[in-house]
Amino acid sequence: LYLDAPLAQGEVLTLAREQAHYLMTVLRLDDGAEVLVFNGRDGEFSATLRPQGRKAANLEIGAQTRAQPEPSRLEFLFAPLKVGRLEYLVQKATEMGIHKITPVFTDHTQMHKINATRLEANILEAAEQCGNLAIPQLGDAVKLETLLGGWDPARRIIFCNESQAGDNPTAALSAITERDLALLVGPEGGFSERERELLTSLPHVTAIPLGPRILRADTAAVAALTAVQMTIGD
Ligand code: SAM
Repeated sequence: LYLDAPLAQGEVLTLAREQAHYLMTVLRLDDGAEVLVFNGRDGEFSATLRPQGRKAANLEIGAQTRAQPEPSRLEFLFAPLKVGRLEYLVQKATEMGIHKITPVFTDHTQMHKINATRLEANILEAAEQCGNLAIPQLGDAVKLETLLGGWDPARRIIFCNESQAGDNPTAALSAITERDLALLVGPEGGFSERERELLTSLPHVTAIPLGPRILRADTAAVAALTAVQMTIGD
């Protein structure tokens, strides 16, 4: 269970109404039930449920069960997809421990607005479901040009370039030496020619192919995140 509060053994925390409802009514937990809690910073703790009437409850925080892990150093830059596929992307990036996910609007992006509150809720739900204690930060949605204009050139961007599909991915991946990286995946319609020219002109951007087939954007994201994490041992 995610708690938006500092965690330490011996603390007694009052649960938000919806969380008390979830534990006592949905999961039917009783007084004394043990739950695991995390806040994305302090690791995971066991906690004991203490109902306060029928609609409120406290949690008594017990011993730490897991230390806070090092997050992946990879940032995920993605063109927002339609809602179901966007949620899938956010879930998978959360499961993979990505430390920051940033929506990037490109020429062919079909979604022009981001519901940040909803995406943050998806992130927390995904972290709770997969037991990942590191919660990705959601970056502010930004246009590709603005992002590139303000980018620190000391950080490399790996750009999944569908027009290089068919080139050797292993050679491109093995040329990556840095560990502090961002990975950019395009929208359903791919990158425009203009964007591809801009990206390939920047010395801190490395284009990679993902094999001979054009993958759906959500599949490409999972494949590329996996390939880069395995390459940099993250
Ligand atoms: N039309 C499909 C869809 O609805 O998702 C395919 C979209 S594909 C053009 C979306 C993005 O996935 C591309 O911009 C690129 O970043 C990445 N991608 C897909 N296949 C790729 C490949 N073989 N090599 C490199 N990048 C790829």
